[in-house]
Amino acid sequence: MKQSPPPVTATTANWTSSKPPLLRFLHECHAEFLAETGGAVANYIPELGKADPAHFGISLATLDGHVYEIGDTKVPFTIQSMSKPFVFALALDSLGAGRVESVIGVEPSGDPFNSIRLNAENHPFNPMVNAGAIACSGLIHAARGNGAFECIRQALGRFAGRELGVDEAVYASESATGDRNRAIGYLLRNNSVITENVPAVLDVYFRQCAILVTARDIAVMAATLANRGINPVTGEQVMTPYAIARTLSVMTSSGMYDFAGEWIYRVGIPAKSGVGGGILAALPARLGLGSYSPKLDKHGNSVRGIKVCEALSAHYDLHMLNRSDDARHSIIADYNIGKNPSRRVRRPQEQEILAKHFQEVRVIELVGTLSLSNVDYVSRRLAGGLRPQFVIFDLRRVTATTRAGARLISEAFKELAELGVTVILSGIKRTSREWTTISEWTGRLGNIRDFYLLDAAIEWAEDQIVYRYGGSIDFLETTELSEQPLLAGLTEEELTDLASRCAIRTYQPNEKIIAAGDPATSLFFLRSGVVHVTLPDGVRLATLTAGTAFGEMALLEPQRSADVLTDMSATAYELPIADFAHFRKQHPRACELIMRNLAMLLANRLILANAKVDLLTST
Ligand code: GLN
Repeated sequence: MKQSPPPVTATTANWTSSKPPLLRFLHECHAEFLAETGGAVANYIPELGKADPAHFGISLATLDGHVYEIGDTKVPFTIQSMSKPFVFALALDSLGAGRVESVIGVEPSGDPFNSIRLNAENHPFNPMVNAGAIACSGLIHAARGNGAFECIRQALGRFAGRELGVDEAVYASESATGDRNRAIGYLLRNNSVITENVPAVLDVYFRQCAILVTARDIAVMAATLANRGINPVTGEQVMTPYAIARTLSVMTSSGMYDFAGEWIYRVGIPAKSGVGGGILAALPARLGLGSYSPKLDKHGNSVRGIKVCEALSAHYDLHMLNRSDDARHSIIADYNIGKNPSRRVRRPQEQEILAKHFQEVRVIELVGTLSLSNVDYVSRRLAGGLRPQFVIFDLRRVTATTRAGARLISEAFKELAELGVTVILSGIKRTSREWTTISEWTGRLGNIRDFYLLDAAIEWAEDQIVYRYGGSIDFLETTELSEQPLLAGLTEEELTDLASRCAIRTYQPNEKIIAAGDPATSLFFLRSGVVHVTLPDGVRLATLTAGTAFGEMALLEPQRSADVLTDMSATAYELPIADFAHFRKQHPRACELIMRNLAMLLANRLILANAKVDLLTST
């Protein structure tokens, strides 16, 4: 029997309830590694031994602030050693790198986390092992006294985006049994790494290790590290990018203790684990991962957490050293105004000048990130062509600017200025992050112009070319009907007849002459001033100066498709369509000419529009 195909039941409900692929992947990881029961819950801190070994949560935070969660992501557990990177960052930021580096090294030790060995200078090897972390807490204590712990708790809370509490039982349990850490504390004081009251410093350290977090918190904290210190959920700049980069560096070399080399070799994502069962992984510019599963391997790292990180890195090829980039994609279009003039309708004298000097204005439309490689490539492309007088960089598709990119582009601008080339930026607002980054370096150059609309930038550069080559644009000049391209070829008598059927209108600046949607009952010949044609959504279609027609589509269409507004005071001849019909009866030859002129004007506009589309598709 022939089977009929299943009915198609796609609905919006089906679509919205489907899982994003990354969440689906985390679900699969969770299901697969739930079966992993190896390892042992830490019990050298007795209270930690009470953790439920079955708990398993994975959370992943993206840098746009989205958090994926699967499993026990709301179960609180103690942060333990995952506090170390954050306290190190806090020490760098609040005390300065010099102070911190004077007593704590940044070399991997290759030792377990609780090793009592110090380096050749009798300093802790790095801030990720207990000795270094206790030294860090000592530095904060020296600076803040009794307020040290509160300062740390609040800093960690800013990374998590919420107030964090303390597990008093775990704190008390470690405080009662932590003699090995006490031994480290006294060894540090013996070597003048800490000069403080050792029990007070250890109290800060034990409390910071007992701060309660969830897998979700850890993911957000990791994402903040991955995002140069900006919490992607709250938007707060929690620490300086400087402190964050140094912190990620020591996480890379030492975050996983005596497993660190193997970890970075295989997984390639800076990470930190804690004996409470958490793992934090921060992939710069990409994501933050938090996992919770209390059973640990012999290095003190969560068995399931390690598996999740390995799987994520392998499946999506995330090893941080396995990267490449192609700067050639950063230019989406590169042309001069011969191919793509502004939408300003030019009069014959201006057209002539622009036709001769079109190579003087070069437009480069950029896309993506202004990075070192991308800007370098752009600067070489620029040097390759004829030297123009104006270069417009359109940045409307630029999504980010690195500091290196901003510095290099400012150096390129400086060189262009020295060569007498004027730089114009478009597609960028002065209030944007890009503008701030670029102007940090270019601030003193002063010769850069900016226009939000590319068309306005091109129009301005064209004007400069017209001025430079002897043309003048007189906005106050009044033109006659005989100068209208739409009326080219009409006799004196025909023009006089037409003029007698027109009314002369006067408009104030910013007045709406035509509104989209209105019936098209007349056409206009601009006599003086400037008007612009815009779509209802604000897109400027054209700028018209005296001597050109608008609303001429009324000859073809019954309804207005765009608004026409004045830029400055203007005057125009208005010709009602009904009167044009009478004129047509008396002067059929003139009307045929007008329709032919209209066809030519429309054809030219179409050619330009096609060229614009081509510019983007062919580069
Ligand atoms: N509080 C724990 C300790 O000092 C932290 C160790 C860890 O998480 N690796 O032993």
